Amino acid sequence: MRLKEAIDQLKSGLAGVAEASEVQAMIRVICEDVFNYDQVDVALRQESELPDFAPQRIAEIVARLRRHEPLQYIVGSTRFHGHKLKVSPAVLIPRPETEQLVDLIVDENPGSDLRVLDMGTGSGCIAISLARALKFAQVDALDVSRDALAVARENAESLKVKVRLFESDMLSPQPPGSYDIIVSNPPYVCWSERESMERNVLDYEPGQALFVPDNDPLLFYKAIVKYAVEALDKGGRLYLEINRRYGNEVKRLLQDHGLADVRIIDDSYGNTRFAAARKG
Ligand code: GLN
Repeated sequence: MRLKEAIDQLKSGLAGVAEASEVQAMIRVICEDVFNYDQVDVALRQESELPDFAPQRIAEIVARLRRHEPLQYIVGSTRFHGHKLKVSPAVLIPRPETEQLVDLIVDENPGSDLRVLDMGTGSGCIAISLARALKFAQVDALDVSRDALAVARENAESLKVKVRLFESDMLSPQPPGSYDIIVSNPPYVCWSERESMERNVLDYEPGQALFVPDNDPLLFYKAIVKYAVEALDKGGRLYLEINRRYGNEVKRLLQDHGLADVRIIDDSYGNTRFAAARKG
């Protein structure tokens, strides 16, 4: 099978599964991650012969995508903040919005030797990106899921950063130490929001990393803030990804705990998405 035929097979197999532009993006990822052809290769090497496993692998990928399985789980990786990270169904697929949270922290903390804690690290995307981008940071990360921690460990090793990982529940965190920065992208989607969500998320991503009960949408924020006011050093900063519906409530929660400079920040789509505050 030649590259050109593989691409045609993907195009016809995926017609109707996703928009044309999305199919194009999927094909780019498949060529790169499965066959090791980057975009230039794809443009120039259409006649190249692919390995023998290609037809079967393509048929399998198409079948799984048609069942709405996320491509990131099928190929086992995604890109985040310029890094290739392993993902499995044990972890949420890192979202582009969360890259903006990393950028915000990096931009606002030019100092060195900062001690950082990421609560609910999942794939390790935030912790690892910060460990790579901040100067000489000491980064800790916790997660309640042992399977998620195994993925985060693999990612830290393959990207050659030191992140100390702790198995701990965000609702009753027990990591040691005091911190200059605490960051979290905790579960924040209400159960009632499920109806408006896509099958690729609902059927495949870990509910434990996504959902909170309707009657307590700030469940995790309350625990995080309670911990943060203790564990942050004076002047230390808290950064959160939040549900756009609850900007005002999160703001009030942070203010009620005596944090200073409380900000609610939009993402690049113009949606309320982050909160930041400082321990005075
Ligand atoms: N932004 C994610 C989504 O829309 C939710 C992430 C989370 O719950 N922390 O699926």
